[in-house]
Amino acid sequence: MDKIKEILRGVRLLDPLSDFDGVVDIAVEQDGVQWIRKASGDPSGLWLFPGLVDMHVHLRTPGYEDAETLESGLRAAVAGGVTCVGMMPNTTPALDSVDLTLAVKKKGESFGLTGIEPIPCVTMGRAGENCTDLEGFARCGITCFSDDGSPVEGDKTLREAFNCIAPFNGVVIEHPEVTAMAAGGVVNLGRASTETETQGIPESAEYLDVERCIGILRDSRSGARLHLTHLSSPESIRLAHKASMEGLRVTCDVTPHHLALNEEAVIALGAVAKMNPPLRSEESRKKIVDMVKKGMVTAIASDHAPHPAGRKELPLSAAAFGITGLETLLSVTLDILGREAGMHPLDIIRLLTTAPAAILGTVPPEIAAGKPLNMVLFDPKQHWTYSKTFSSSSNSPFFGKKLTGKVLRVWFGLELYREGEFV
Ligand SMILES: [Zn+2]
Repeated sequence: MDKIKEILRGVRLLDPLSDFDGVVDIAVEQDGVQWIRKASGDPSGLWLFPGLVDMHVHLRTPGYEDAETLESGLRAAVAGGVTCVGMMPNTTPALDSVDLTLAVKKKGESFGLTGIEPIPCVTMGRAGENCTDLEGFARCGITCFSDDGSPVEGDKTLREAFNCIAPFNGVVIEHPEVTAMAAGGVVNLGRASTETETQGIPESAEYLDVERCIGILRDSRSGARLHLTHLSSPESIRLAHKASMEGLRVTCDVTPHHLALNEEAVIALGAVAKMNPPLRSEESRKKIVDMVKKGMVTAIASDHAPHPAGRKELPLSAAAFGITGLETLLSVTLDILGREAGMHPLDIIRLLTTAPAAILGTVPPEIAAGKPLNMVLFDPKQHWTYSKTFSSSSNSPFFGKKLTGKVLRVWFGLELYREGEFV
């Protein structure tokens, strides 16, 4: 047995896999948990939960290393309490070959910061016409696919993809968008487009594609899995939930920013709050929070989308879509779903750990005696200002803002991060 390095006393352990919520003392070795016991003293007020699984992250490599490098992106992940990253393929070149995808995964993992779940393209060049070597990816243990940044355009191609991935329990992660409806759009169609005098993107540009994908999945009779990502419209969530009730294997996620912000943010702040799908009305935001509370949403993902200042500090219509999100994922999500919606913290942590792990088909993170270290120490009451980032970009509407709830320490294999610094 290894030597105990330290004992964390009186921490509230929130472990979704074992459904445990209680105050414990926990003995930490160099690289594992030795024992967990009922706390002997007073609660510290701190929470301990497994490292987060963020299933939607843009690491921008290869091709846009001015926005993010693998190392800077993964450091931002750890600083946010994320120890498993779902890596999106809209790079240049796109992650549409097994060799390139494995090379990027290997390089990313060489930093020893987080696990990486690559999510290569469904179609070559994300063009929506010809499927990538889906079976070849599966032989290398890669079973999640997305053309994110775009939907999988070809209807027949999407059906072929469902048929191909079903035998190995793969999943298509769809960025739902009717591109012809969203083309040229800048912000939400409604108050935001009127106020900013730009072209609007309606919610129907999202939910009509949700409907299309569900229809194609149903017709394929493949039994394949479909995951609908970054949903911004309550109607999209309603359709996804209805399909799952019907027995189709459909899941969905929402982002912290669509839970926390409405279109007033882009009217007030401009391009730093410009994203795709856009921030919606307050009415839609409230409905989405309520739907998460009702269990209609499977997971929360950051959609971390870094951009250098040069692509954001432009007129609203010319600026790039997307905001960074890894470092604010926990604070923002817990604040809205905990404080505003009154959800139990264990249920919120589940949406950020075991639930996305199940969608990605990766090992669920857990905190248990004899297991390797994969955990986050979090102060739910601490107020802090988001003024320093490990990302190469700082395009976040939360940058410079006061937040509640802070990541104190992160262990993944070893202790990696402590009080704002890498160990
Ligand atoms: Zn997307």
